[in-house]
Amino acid sequence: MSALAAEHGAINLSQGFPDFDIDPELIRLVNDAMLGGHNQYAPMPGLPALREAIAEVVLRTYNRDTNPQTEVTVTAGGTAALYAAITALVRPGDEVIIFDPSYDSYSPAVRLNGGTPVHLNLLPPAFGIPWQQVENAVNEKTRMIIVNTPHNPCGSVLSEDDMRRFGALCRAHDIILLSDEVYERIIFDGKQHHSVLSFPDMKDHAIAVFSFGKTFHVTGWKTGYLVASPELTKEIRKSHQFITFSVNTPMQHGIAAYLKESSRYTSLGQFYQTKRDFFLEQLKGSPFTALPCFGSYFQIVSFEGYSKESDHELATRLTREAGIASIPVSAFYRDGSDHHLLRFCFAKRNETLEAAGKILRTL
Ligand code: PMP
Repeated sequence: MSALAAEHGAINLSQGFPDFDIDPELIRLVNDAMLGGHNQYAPMPGLPALREAIAEVVLRTYNRDTNPQTEVTVTAGGTAALYAAITALVRPGDEVIIFDPSYDSYSPAVRLNGGTPVHLNLLPPAFGIPWQQVENAVNEKTRMIIVNTPHNPCGSVLSEDDMRRFGALCRAHDIILLSDEVYERIIFDGKQHHSVLSFPDMKDHAIAVFSFGKTFHVTGWKTGYLVASPELTKEIRKSHQFITFSVNTPMQHGIAAYLKESSRYTSLGQFYQTKRDFFLEQLKGSPFTALPCFGSYFQIVSFEGYSKESDHELATRLTREAGIASIPVSAFYRDGSDHHLLRFCFAKRNETLEAAGKILRTL
C-alpha cells in the first residue's frame, strides 16, 4: 500500500510509522556517540549501559527485578526479537497459537522453523480472546502462544484477567507465552498496560518483546529488546548470536543516555491519545465508523453501509482515486476474513491528519 500510495501521490496512513520529527536531543546523543568513536561491534547481548538502563525501566514500570546481564537482550527491532525467540524455541512439529489479525512476521517465523501456526480469529468490534477456542486448541504439541498488547491492528488491549488466564494455561501445559508489547507506552483512556513481566508467576514461561522504534518515533533505527528469564534468555541468545550478532553501537549509546529521563517515555500515551482524538474528529462526517481503540497508533474503521466492495478493493480504490492510503484488515487474517474494515495509522502530523480528514469527509 505504501508503494501504491507513492505511485499515486496519496496521503499514506497505511504503513505504521510517524511522519514527524524526533527529539533532537536523541539525535545529539547518538551523534556524540559516533563522534566519540563508538562505531565498532557492540557486545552480542547488547551494550551493558543500555541493558542496565532497560533493567531500570522494567523495574520502574513493571516492578520486576531484572538482571541486565542474564535477562535483557538488545535486538534489531521487535521483529528480530520475535524471530530469535521463535527460532530458539520452536521445533519441527510444534504448534504455535497465533491470534488473527496478526502482525505479519509471526506466522512465517514459525513456519521457517518447522512449526505449525494455529490461527484463531479475533472478531470485531472488541477483538477479545476466544477463550473456548484457545482451550480447545491447546494440546501436547502446543509449544508457544503469541499475544500482542496493545494490539496492531485492532487497537485492543489485553486485560489483567486475560493475562492471568494465559499464565495459568501456559503453566499448566508448559507453554511459552511470547508477548509482543512493542506498543507498551501507547495506551489510552486510563487503561493500563498489563505486561507479562508484571506477573511473577509467569517468569519461567514468558518472553516480552519491545521496540524503541515505537517509543521514540525511530522505526528506521530498528532497535528493540527482549526480556526473559535467564534460562530462556540463554537459549534465545544462541539464535540471536547468528541472526543479528550485535545491534548498531551508536544507537545503543544514545538510547542508553536518553533513557535516563523517564518523562521521555512516560508521556507517550497522552501524546498519542491526543492524536487519536484529533483523527476521530477528522472522521466525523465521513461514511466510516470508528471502532474502539485503546492503544497502538492504529484506528480501525468499518465501512459497512458505505460500500459493498471487499476491503482490499476499497483500500486500493481509495489510494488510487481519492488519494488516501489505508490497509485492508483482511490482510492480517490468515483465512482472509473480510469484516469490511480498514486500518489507518494516526502517528502523523496534524496537517497530515487534517488533509486526510478533508478527503474522507468527501467520500
Ligand atoms: N510487533 C508489532 C505488533 C508491530 O506492529 C511491529 C512494527 N510494525 C513490530 C512488532 C516490529 O517492531 P520493529 O519495527 O521494532 O521491528
